[in-house]
Amino acid sequence: MSHPPTMRVRTLAEAPPRLGGAFVLYWMTATRRLEWNYALDHAVTVARSLGKPLLIYEGLELGYRWASDRHHQAIMDGMREHSTKLSASPVGYFPFIERSAGEGRGLVRALAARACHVVTDDSPVFFTPKLLEAASRLEGVRVDAVDSVGLLPIRAAGRPYSAAYHFRRYLHKELPARLGDVPSADPLTGIVLPPMGELPTEVAARWAPAEPADFEDPSLLASLPIDHSVGTTPWRGGASAARSRLQDFVEASLPRYVEDRNHPDSMAPSGLSPWLHYGHISPHEIFRAVVDAEEWTPIRLSDKPDGRRSGWWGMSASAEAFLDQLITWREVGHGYAVYEPDFTQYETLPAWARQTLEDHVHDRREHLYSADEFAAAETHDEIWNAAQRQLVEDGYIHNYLRMLWGKKILEWTEHPREALDVMVEINNRYALDGRDPNSYSGIFWVMGRFDRGWPERPIFGKVRSMTSASTRRKLSLDRYLERWGGPSAQLTLDGAGHATA
Ligand SMILES: Cc1cc2nc3c(=O)[nH]c(=O)nc-3n(C[C@H](O)[C@H](O)[C@H](O)COP(=O)(O)OP(=O)(O)OC[C@H]3O[C@@H](n4cnc5c(N)ncnc54)[C@H](O)[C@@H]3O)c2cc1C
Repeated sequence: MSHPPTMRVRTLAEAPPRLGGAFVLYWMTATRRLEWNYALDHAVTVARSLGKPLLIYEGLELGYRWASDRHHQAIMDGMREHSTKLSASPVGYFPFIERSAGEGRGLVRALAARACHVVTDDSPVFFTPKLLEAASRLEGVRVDAVDSVGLLPIRAAGRPYSAAYHFRRYLHKELPARLGDVPSADPLTGIVLPPMGELPTEVAARWAPAEPADFEDPSLLASLPIDHSVGTTPWRGGASAARSRLQDFVEASLPRYVEDRNHPDSMAPSGLSPWLHYGHISPHEIFRAVVDAEEWTPIRLSDKPDGRRSGWWGMSASAEAFLDQLITWREVGHGYAVYEPDFTQYETLPAWARQTLEDHVHDRREHLYSADEFAAAETHDEIWNAAQRQLVEDGYIHNYLRMLWGKKILEWTEHPREALDVMVEINNRYALDGRDPNSYSGIFWVMGRFDRGWPERPIFGKVRSMTSASTRRKLSLDRYLERWGGPSAQLTLDGAGHATA
């Protein structure tokens, strides 16, 4: 059993262990997985040391922004797997799906009141910071929040980084000493703990745990007060689907990632971002798969921490390019979200970017679209419309086109603030990986965050611009446009102004 490094554990509420408590409670919120999870490791260690059962509580509430069939089903897929895996384990599992707004209020407090010790996930993803605040107010019980976000502890840097290059340099210095810290790959197989047995009866009577059939019941999903115009997709949540995608990616696509990742016709990117977002797969597990595929050992690391994008790991160019996305770009954004509480606000754009964008606010825009026209993929641009249709129907946009998608929204709105609102709304409503620190990294990157100044252009000023014409010239797109372009794939708006496929 691994133990999280001390820097990954924050005590949110101090109290001596409540020895009369019935169990150790792991309140699973962001790291929704049973493997490669430091919070679970910590909860198991505490339960063992106290000789108490372990209960995992995983909830799905209603009141979150952009709640839809798509996001709900992704989380329910993970819950279904947990329910199956834990049914034959001494570890207890309490899955809860809220049926009416506010129904779940008081549930965690009721469980915590019966617990010896509470463990939860530390993460900046979506509403987790609000849950951490709630956890810190639990009374009479110790609460530890444990970070499994990335390869570096999320609080190691001590400050936000404003450019990927500077963060990469820092990472090169810091990461080698941390590579040996890894959460347990499979902490529950063969686990010896006092069995949890029945859930506390008064709690289960008031808040009925979800039944296995609920996770796949379309009528349950349909009955919930969430946005049904954003439907489910063929994509499946949960650790098994994530692991199978990871295996396919490493075998088939990783070797050609560097050449092919920008071409929408290729399947070179991993497609792992939704599972990372929901906590269904760990970056540690992904990193291990790359290390194994490359037969890599740390002896191949360069001793020059110079912030280079390639050449530092001593791996193939493709593996290095992939790790740069998974580690540098993902972790610079998550760290930024930890240290800059207003990271979703326009005012946190770098001063140079805001200034140059505002200097060009009165430049003539050849095309202007409303939020609804964007959502319905009703622009003049075939490539943009295709990317938007893919987002609405599949919950995913190819990465290169995602950059173009954002740059064009910036170009085709009257003010960068409006562009920001449109990007956030559409991305977070439809993208399976939306509502993540990465969402804001990408959207704010469109407007200059983490980037540098470029030669000045109309509308964009010194912020990097992109054009559909050069995208068409440089990238292989024919099959992509066949699938997502053209009138056959047209979207319509429903009565609420949402795009429906
Ligand atoms: C306008 C815009 C919006 C974006 N919105 C999101 C979003 O909502 N959620 C999201 O996860 N990413 C977002 N990104 C970043 C990036 O586009 C996606 O992470 C990537 O396309 C996911 O596909 P993949 O898993 O196949 O990536 P791969 O190329 O296989 O990369 C592996 C992993 O690295 C991380 N990663 C890759 N590119 C980036 C990046 N530019 N910034 C931060 N992390 C990265 C992701 O976790 C990704 O899963 C956005 C980018 C832009 C320009």
